Amino acid sequence: MAISFNPPTRTLMGPGPSDVHPRILEALSRPTIGHLDPAFVGMMEECKTLLQYAFQTKNALTFPVSAPGSAGMETCFTNLIEPGDKVVVCQNGVFGGRMKENVERCGATAVMVEDAWGEVVDPQKLEDALKANPDARFVAFVHAETSTGAQSDAKTLVEIAHKHDCLTIVDAVTSLAGTPLMVDDWNIDSIYSGTQKCLGCVPGISPVSFNEAAQDVIKNRKTKVQSWFLDLNLVMGYWGDGGGGARSYHHTAPINALYALHESLVMLEEEGIENAWARHEKMHQALRAGLEAMGLSFIVKEGDRLPQLNSVTLPEGAEDAVVRKRLLEEFNLEIGAGLGALAGKVWRIGLMGSGANSKNILVCLGALESVLSDMGANINGGKALPAAMTVLSK
Ligand SMILES: *Cc1c(COP(=O)(O)O)cnc(C)c1O
Repeated sequence: MAISFNPPTRTLMGPGPSDVHPRILEALSRPTIGHLDPAFVGMMEECKTLLQYAFQTKNALTFPVSAPGSAGMETCFTNLIEPGDKVVVCQNGVFGGRMKENVERCGATAVMVEDAWGEVVDPQKLEDALKANPDARFVAFVHAETSTGAQSDAKTLVEIAHKHDCLTIVDAVTSLAGTPLMVDDWNIDSIYSGTQKCLGCVPGISPVSFNEAAQDVIKNRKTKVQSWFLDLNLVMGYWGDGGGGARSYHHTAPINALYALHESLVMLEEEGIENAWARHEKMHQALRAGLEAMGLSFIVKEGDRLPQLNSVTLPEGAEDAVVRKRLLEEFNLEIGAGLGALAGKVWRIGLMGSGANSKNILVCLGALESVLSDMGANINGGKALPAAMTVLSK
């Protein structure tokens, strides 16, 4: 007979999910109520307002999709794009490739603007692609590329897109709450994120937001959205359009997961979003000081790095899979492996949500140094922790 599942307690420092705060886990275990219960509907409304704060937007159409970040991605693409459209997709890592897949599955044409993995999206290349494709209707790009740790200049990319009469689709799965993101100030038209990265919440929900221009495109579609579940015209009957209309059944919301999201957003409001951004940056500086003192180097150049996702090269003599296995088994610590072209060449160390804290940094540096020295890898011993402490004590 099977017995209850009791997961080990890990320290999650990979590309997501990140450590979930006990307050959020406690919220998750509160009693399930009906998804049309007035008490639940009140909480849904508050989630929307809190998400507007997280996204720094007044967009009325801001709500959590009942599925993971990938479903937020599909929500944007399937609702905005129609067969025959032309979409310029910027790719500098794994997730831009998924955008291309989405565009093609919508029956549209993707014009690719490619940059090397580890680099940011080059605004000049986008400009050139738009000049060469005056019939393009949308520009899609990833703000925080989790596969490499590069942070593109979303504000500039949106400006260029608008100059060429294109609406924008922005992946902010890893950026939301971890690095400055201003949906209204930057005039982003549509955006999606996730809960399990810098919100430090459980996985499985995807906050999204659409401005008026994007809503107009959705309302004036010639063809039906091919996904019934993600069709915003239907979903909005459930989440409400902010006009206080009656709610009707569309699907059963992940009720307890939404309690968790609500709690994570309350915690974000308590901390203040600017403080959350500053905390991620400070923790990144401490981790960076430690990793560099140990002798590891970042693959993304300074100034383009995401604080919440640190990609570093493996030192000589380190075996990727063995190191990660030992970190997990001996220290209950998870760090991320390289993806695609970077597999076996880098580690991706996440500092996301409540996991962006000094304890995690010291655990990570200490455990990594212990495993690497034991294996005879080429690192400078004894330097990482003091270097990180110096930044942390500032
Ligand atoms: C994690 C991630 C996603 C996918 O989110 P899921 O919740 O895993 O579906 C999409 N884009 C980026 C940049 C991500 O980091």
